[in-house]
Amino acid sequence: KSFKYYGLSPEILESLRKLEYKEPTKVQVQVIPQVLEGRDVIVRSQTGSGKTASFGIPVCEKIKTEFKDPQALILTPTRELCVQVKEDISNIGRLKRIRCAAVFGKQPYDEQTRELKQRVHIIAGTPGRVIDHIERGNIITGSIKYLIIDEADKMLNMGFIGQIETIISLIPKERITLLFSATLPDKVRYLCDKYMHKPVSIEI
Ligand code: AMP
Repeated sequence: KSFKYYGLSPEILESLRKLEYKEPTKVQVQVIPQVLEGRDVIVRSQTGSGKTASFGIPVCEKIKTEFKDPQALILTPTRELCVQVKEDISNIGRLKRIRCAAVFGKQPYDEQTRELKQRVHIIAGTPGRVIDHIERGNIITGSIKYLIIDEADKMLNMGFIGQIETIISLIPKERITLLFSATLPDKVRYLCDKYMHKPVSIEI
């Protein structure tokens, strides 16, 4: 078990070495190859399993840094998770010069808008604020290739279903969708059935 066998670029491997991620966790072993192959994936796992890096590593690998508009959108239920995801992604993508922005509610727009106006490859955000920034023209959605729905069960319990569906309607249909959830209640299955394309299911 080593990160060397996934064909990752030297910059990503060096970042993982710096983070002292010596070998992939169970969820990473299952998820990384599927995402690299371009599959939609449903992952049932708990936090603390290394799930952020399980999508962070392959998504950072696939980002084309020369493109100006965002290529990946990560939806999170809370500000805390959003900030954590941004940090993790920034660390994984640092040597590849990948830029990740975090946008979340109950904060002034100015600073987030300034961050978005610079070139960012990946955006992590809470649903309401993501919609606001799309409507304001601060997030350009046309180049989004990866949609990651993190802690889906928690987001749906918080009543975000309508907002998630709005966001999905505003991003390209041709994309890869990754959904992470601790549990798979009907509401989460509904999202998977409606918006995912032949997903692979992984349970840790
Ligand atoms: P998560 O489940 O994404 O919240 O990750 C839990 C913790 O595990 C975080 O502090 C990560 O930085 C860390 N982590 C993720 N992947 C690895 C790995 N392959 N080796 C060691 N630590 C890891």
